[in-house]
Amino acid sequence: MQNRQYYLHPYQTEYSTEVITSNGVEGQYHVVLANTVFYPEGGGQPADRGLINDIPVLHVYETADQQIVHILPQDPGQGEVLCRLDWQRRFYHMQHHTGQHLLSAVFYRKYNVQTMGFHLSEQYATLDLDIAVLTPELLTAAEQEVNRLVQQNLPVKIYFISAAECQQHALLRKQPQVDSDIRIVEIDNYDAVPCCGTHVANTGEIGLIKVIKTEKVRGMTRLYYRCGQEAYRDYQFKHDLVTNLANIFSSSDQEVLDRVMAELERKSELERELKNVKQQLFRYEANGLVAQAKGRVIIHYLDADADIDSAQILIKEILALGHFLVLVSVGNRVFLSHNLEDDLDCGALVKTHASEYGGRGGGKKDFAQVFFPSHDLLQQFVSSVETGVEK
Ligand SMILES: [Zn+2]
Repeated sequence: MQNRQYYLHPYQTEYSTEVITSNGVEGQYHVVLANTVFYPEGGGQPADRGLINDIPVLHVYETADQQIVHILPQDPGQGEVLCRLDWQRRFYHMQHHTGQHLLSAVFYRKYNVQTMGFHLSEQYATLDLDIAVLTPELLTAAEQEVNRLVQQNLPVKIYFISAAECQQHALLRKQPQVDSDIRIVEIDNYDAVPCCGTHVANTGEIGLIKVIKTEKVRGMTRLYYRCGQEAYRDYQFKHDLVTNLANIFSSSDQEVLDRVMAELERKSELERELKNVKQQLFRYEANGLVAQAKGRVIIHYLDADADIDSAQILIKEILALGHFLVLVSVGNRVFLSHNLEDDLDCGALVKTHASEYGGRGGGKKDFAQVFFPSHDLLQQFVSSVETGVEK
């Protein structure tokens, strides 16, 4: 472990060391150093980024024989190199990783719920808990306890012990499955687990921990959470959102949800009222059209911006008053429907006849619709249908 500077000094951001090997692989360079500040991907924690002699580090991984390989787009050369860590990214990892330890510890110690998985990426951090149903009350209580432990600023201790010592360790949440010495991460006198990641030195550095959402995954519960600066950013975003909403509704933060719910209720009421008014309007219009009808065909052109529902309501109202073939258009679309006691088939009529006018559509015996490239062609089609049926 002597060549893992990220373990010995996890807060070190610059380090000079020697290149051991640099091999070209498919246009990139796989570089092994005498010592490194770059954490390789592992244990749910992503690899570090940064610069080696000002060349960006694209990825860092550990081989089966425990060599740490840095992938670079250029050859850093031989001899001494200066390594500079992307500290912002690393500290985000350290906060969220240590935050995971605290969340897992509280769920295990207070509620006997084990952690089954942990995932950290640039976008989010998640924790899979072995519990099918996590009530909001339990989640809130656990979250409060975790934040209390943050504020106690407990030291995070890191040490190596033998497999035999592991058996005697009273704080260990999980027994490791190895024979060699094992790295333990202990939150002072509260919780300990074997872990290979990087962590903050005291829990206070995690800052706020906030669970953002939960999700059911294969009988478990997945928590999405944020720590420190990310939790603050999330708070700021939500604070702005609530403030803007409260301003729009001339309400306080506390009352804005009630105001939104009341507005939604009002909107539903207005929609119901509008539907009734439309129904009455089209009933009135249907009566007029039927009174003026000279034959079995009724044609009506609705406004181009009328909705399709309006055409269907009007057709229904007309057919309730007698036996007709009704053609109602909205823009370049026309709807055909009939309840005549003969073999007239709207779908077949459209299929055989509409294409002469460039129309495309179809339907069934009692209802069809067609779309035309122009209103002029639509009118020609409608006239020809009227002539055909009335003759
Ligand atoms: Zn850890």
